Amino acid sequence: MPYKLLFCNFADCMKKLVDILRTEHHLDNNAYKALLENDDPKFVTYLHEQAHEVTNKMFGKGIFVRGLIELTNVCSNDCYYCGIRKSNSNVERYVLTSEQVLHSCQQGYELGFRTFVLQGGELPQEKASWLINLVSEIRQRWTDCAITLSLGEWPREVYKALRQAGADRYLLRHESHNAEHYSKLHPAEMSLSNRLQCLTWLKELDYQVGTGIMVGSPWQSLDNIVEDIEFIEHFEPEMIGLGPFVPQHDTPLGNYPTGSAELTCKLYSIFRLMFPNALIPTTTALNSISPNGRILGIMAGANVVMPNLSPTEYRANYALYDGKASTNAEAAEGIKQLETQLATIGYHINWTRGDYSQCKIND
Ligand code: SF4
Repeated sequence: MPYKLLFCNFADCMKKLVDILRTEHHLDNNAYKALLENDDPKFVTYLHEQAHEVTNKMFGKGIFVRGLIELTNVCSNDCYYCGIRKSNSNVERYVLTSEQVLHSCQQGYELGFRTFVLQGGELPQEKASWLINLVSEIRQRWTDCAITLSLGEWPREVYKALRQAGADRYLLRHESHNAEHYSKLHPAEMSLSNRLQCLTWLKELDYQVGTGIMVGSPWQSLDNIVEDIEFIEHFEPEMIGLGPFVPQHDTPLGNYPTGSAELTCKLYSIFRLMFPNALIPTTTALNSISPNGRILGIMAGANVVMPNLSPTEYRANYALYDGKASTNAEAAEGIKQLETQLATIGYHINWTRGDYSQCKIND
């Protein structure tokens, strides 16, 4: 226990840990675990308040929006938790055409979006040149927009070509930094070491990089989460993506319980205090399991929302998990609803690109 905490009672100790995290942006592993274990409402409220205050200080009352385009539900991987894993024969597969993607970008641009996120399963290697051309086309048409990719593991030269074509950011959750836990969530042909290698390459190639985990995935212990915190602390990503585990009924993990919204929000707060200027989305998964999930995420320190810009007829086929929200304020066409929702807590949309380097933002 840190010297400063030797003489305080438990409640004060926990608050003191939060204060130390806020000022020093670091705790030891036992202290992180204590924060995760303690569910006392007063403590949790204090943790969220501190994180929320830091977010306001760094970003003002603006929430960044990213236009999400679900490029494809084709995937060569078979992650045990994922609804679009290759073994799921109940999925109607699609790959958007370049024209459909460009049309979605155009619609998004007209709505005000200045970041496009292309997300999808891992396409076969022979689609790499198509992807690179697509990124290049988006870059040429919308020079003032950021391009974020979330398309899984690729060889270094493909990441490099995508970066040279104009991609700015890459999201690749590591999912678990514990090799044994990772191997329970993924088939043998996938490895934590390759995932970490990809993240290292992305950093080397000067992407703004995002990583993260599913909170409450099967067999995940609090010690595992502490390992994830430790990894993220050292990796220093620009973006941190955290959503609760939500089962999908056609997958091998379809009968496992849904992760906790409370623990997810607690982690938003912990990461906000560790990384005051990080970009932390309040995720669709959180909003899907909790009626007010988006707002809870923002009140815990998140500062990004990713409304869906994909053509509406494909959205139901991109079911990573059961009950995924894809309408109303989750959808780009529901942007007014999102604005209204944010206004109820005194926030508004920040329509700028919202690059990590722009922080601290004067909003
Ligand atoms: S989690 Fe990603 S890599 Fe794994 S099966 Fe789903 S889309 Fe593919």
